[in-house]
Amino acid sequence: MSAEATDDKEIVRVVGDMTVTVDRLLCVGFGDCIDEAPEAFEFDDEGIAILTGPETVDRGRLLRACESCPVDAITVMDILGRTLVPEESAAADD
Ligand code: SF4
Repeated sequence: MSAEATDDKEIVRVVGDMTVTVDRLLCVGFGDCIDEAPEAFEFDDEGIAILTGPETVDRGRLLRACESCPVDAITVMDILGRTLVPEESAAADD
């Protein structure tokens, strides 16, 4: 089941236990997310990424596609409100 909210600034989609948000003001149209998961993202008429079928892509590839954004225009939150993407580098210790 999914829900979507769209305005001029953001596209928000609930995918399973995750909420994926594309910040349209940050997106600069490099297309990395589309390269990684073309079933999930595409460009709109303005060359800004929109969510098309994120529920059709397995969780790992969807997360990789979201992480691939060079300007962190895509945010993924889990059901508890924790940020999965972008990763907080301060939390990594390896
Ligand atoms: S990777 Fe980021 S900047 Fe590039 S199209 Fe996707 S959302 Fe936009």
